[in-house]
Amino acid sequence: MSIWQDLEKKYYMQVVRRQPVTIVKGLGTKVWDDENKEYLDFTSGWAVNNLGHCHPAIVEAIKNQAETLMQTSNQFFTVPQVQLAQLLVENSCLDRVFFANSGAEANEGAVKLARKYGKLNKNGAYGVITALNSFHGRTMAMISATGQPHYQANWQPLYEGFSNVEYNNLDAIKQATNENTCAVMLEPIQGEGGVNIPDPSFFKSVRQWCDDNNMLLILDEVQTGIGRTGTLFGYEQFGIEPDVITLAKGLGGGVPIGAFLAKESAAALEPGDHGSTFGGNVLTTAAAYAAVKYAIDNNIEKDAKVSGEYLKDLLEKATDSLPNISEIRGRGLLIAVEFTEDIAPELVSTCNELGLLLNPVRPNAIRLMPPLTVSKEEMDKAVELIVEGVKTILAKGKK
Ligand SMILES: *Cc1c(COP(=O)(O)O)cnc(C)c1O
Repeated sequence: MSIWQDLEKKYYMQVVRRQPVTIVKGLGTKVWDDENKEYLDFTSGWAVNNLGHCHPAIVEAIKNQAETLMQTSNQFFTVPQVQLAQLLVENSCLDRVFFANSGAEANEGAVKLARKYGKLNKNGAYGVITALNSFHGRTMAMISATGQPHYQANWQPLYEGFSNVEYNNLDAIKQATNENTCAVMLEPIQGEGGVNIPDPSFFKSVRQWCDDNNMLLILDEVQTGIGRTGTLFGYEQFGIEPDVITLAKGLGGGVPIGAFLAKESAAALEPGDHGSTFGGNVLTTAAAYAAVKYAIDNNIEKDAKVSGEYLKDLLEKATDSLPNISEIRGRGLLIAVEFTEDIAPELVSTCNELGLLLNPVRPNAIRLMPPLTVSKEEMDKAVELIVEGVKTILAKGKK
């Protein structure tokens, strides 16, 4: 084990179950560890590095901005913050942006906005309906929103005003709705929950229900945004317009930034209602502007769609030799491969050794989320390594 892993055990809060890999360098889809071993990175910094590691457009923007100005307070105007806001508004159905520093924080802001909306437009309604198996972040309010007992159990009492109901089930949302409900908050596709795709009509009916009951529809696009699922935003695939979306992960191309965007009709916040010292910081917004501009100018979402189909095809073909694959699901380059047994953790460590980084999203499923710039050769190689990994595990089991 490397010295860094020993030191981490000694000094770092032991909250993460890490893979025994110390990454020191990245370029495109590849990363290298501290012994210069090369890996294909199909985790992309957790669906963050949509343009690959150290994309020159982003590196250049960071260098230039770092030499010019790194931080001012938000009591002043800055250029990259406004440029990024304009770019996002002009390429989405939303009208206004607020920048935060992470996905959880973006969602917190969206919920504050929804409560303010309820106060102004629905007699103080404050309740937010979210889904079971969702993931919205790790702050107190967001673990209350996140419908997974594992994230909630040790932190009772939870934050009031959230109800977690079955995903992809309009009736469950209807039953949970009352006069105190101001919003429904959902992921367009559940990411951490295992890459769960709703029925094609689900979001249309949720949209209608929200309209009928004067509730905001908030889509948590922290993982699905910026091209990941084959469209610039996930909502585009369901033929609806949300009132609010939240972004983070892919937004910064590798730097920490989050955002919530709202339609003018939902933008209930006023001066003094919300803020953040680092939110909308010039360095991160300059990097994010470069990342999003490049993504839009180069139709990166089309690459995600085409490569996603290629990768799913390869995986389908692999099922010929791997009968223990039970399902392959996903959109764009957010894909899960489910197995008939709980082999995901072992498969991930076997693939580490073979030089492929993966995420065990469920005990029986791995998640593939490579950079959207991934090449065919890299996908060919990754699927070869997955097949080899599964066969290695099966062979051990037979001994
Ligand atoms: C990762 C994620 C979050 C949390 O983002 P952080 O930056 O880790 O706070 C929220 N929602 C979704 C859908 C996510 O995938």
